[in-house]
Amino acid sequence: MELKSTRFLVVGAGFFGSVIAERIANDLKEHVVVIDKRNHIGGNCYAEIHPETGIIYHKYGTHIFHTPSKIIWDYINRFAGFNGYRHQVLNTYKEKVYQMPINLETINAFYNINLKPFEVDAFLSKEIQKENITHPANFEEKAISLIGRPLYEAFIKGYTKKQWQKDPKELPVSILSRLPFRKNYDESYYFSRWQGIPINDYTEVFKKMLDHPKIEVHLNTDFFEIRDRIGKDTLIIYSGPIDQFFDYKFGKLEWRTLDFLEKIIPVEDYQGTSVMNYGEESVPYTRIHEPRHLHPEKDYPKDKTLIIEEYPRPDDGTNPFYPVNDAKNQSLILKYREEVNRMDNVMISGRLGNYKYYDMTDTIDIALKTYDTIKTRYHA
Ligand SMILES: Cc1cc2nc3c(=O)[nH]c(=O)nc-3n(C[C@H](O)[C@H](O)[C@H](O)COP(=O)(O)OP(=O)(O)OC[C@H]3O[C@@H](n4cnc5c(N)ncnc54)[C@H](O)[C@@H]3O)c2cc1C
Repeated sequence: MELKSTRFLVVGAGFFGSVIAERIANDLKEHVVVIDKRNHIGGNCYAEIHPETGIIYHKYGTHIFHTPSKIIWDYINRFAGFNGYRHQVLNTYKEKVYQMPINLETINAFYNINLKPFEVDAFLSKEIQKENITHPANFEEKAISLIGRPLYEAFIKGYTKKQWQKDPKELPVSILSRLPFRKNYDESYYFSRWQGIPINDYTEVFKKMLDHPKIEVHLNTDFFEIRDRIGKDTLIIYSGPIDQFFDYKFGKLEWRTLDFLEKIIPVEDYQGTSVMNYGEESVPYTRIHEPRHLHPEKDYPKDKTLIIEEYPRPDDGTNPFYPVNDAKNQSLILKYREEVNRMDNVMISGRLGNYKYYDMTDTIDIALKTYDTIKTRYHA
């Protein structure tokens, strides 16, 4: 790989890096080198065919594409056809299945009542007032002040405890600004107008994005191992962890991650839906994914199915998934961002670079905006 004369070096072949590389090659008509330390493109959206069942699954957790933006939808559709999958999440609690986010069906089934939408506010107000929380001081109090204790204890408490491995009383209010909640029977998880799963999986999308004579992709290539070979005129577009870029000089940003345990079950359909939450503390996992349901259009085996149990834990540097949005990490990220602003030839972004949870639509959006900046600089 020739790096000294490379004008554009993109670090990370996830959505952020791939969109920028695609734009540089197709719009700017310039050569661009893309590196990724993993052995595949696609970042956390990578999907592959499970060898024993033939079912497409998402290696880093179920990914549903959803966007409210026609611009992003048109853009992504240049690289993929989408099936009409619309996401729904269910929650098993005490051996009964409820709809999530909490909606009118959840409330009526849970309390065994038959409220109408216009009666929900008054009903919940009574539940909330029983606790008399005026100034919530932690996650638990905030959640109870929004939906009352019984719903909180059934659907939020155990799940949150497993997700963060902390008592919700010890979690800051800041990580809970609102609880998704519906006063009607709407069971769709996302409101976005455009949703779906790429028919030939996400990896195909990335292959198409990066398939250009001006794009050179190098996998199994860690930025920190080639850093000193990069020319001084190269623009580095980096979507790895921002603290690592600066050798953790202000300290390490904390991340949460997930372990996935795959199981093959000898039935056609194990749970009837792609994602089932488990709110109870006594169940060790938070969710079970059954990826066959993401592709109802496919002819999958009838004698077996793939399920994947999800176990949250702190990240040890291998798979940073979710930022920890507390005061300590927020103050660290501000210090790192100030460092980036002082540099000329480096742009740091994407979810790892900005230390933010972005849905795919947000990532593509910031990548397209970052590309506009690159283009303006290029023509200046
Ligand atoms: C469990 C989970 C479920 C999700 N589900 C959804 C969903 O349903 N819908 C949705 O819209 N979004 C979802 N997302 C968000 C989605 O994954 C992100 O929006 C998207 O992956 C961000 O793309 P990115 O390019 O910024 O980061 P990434 O996809 O993480 O790509 C960054 C790349 O940089 C590489 N890299 C890092 N350091 C180096 C280095 N030193 N050298 C070389 N390469 C390096 C990494 O290997 C990685 O491939 C989910 C995220 C998670 C964690």
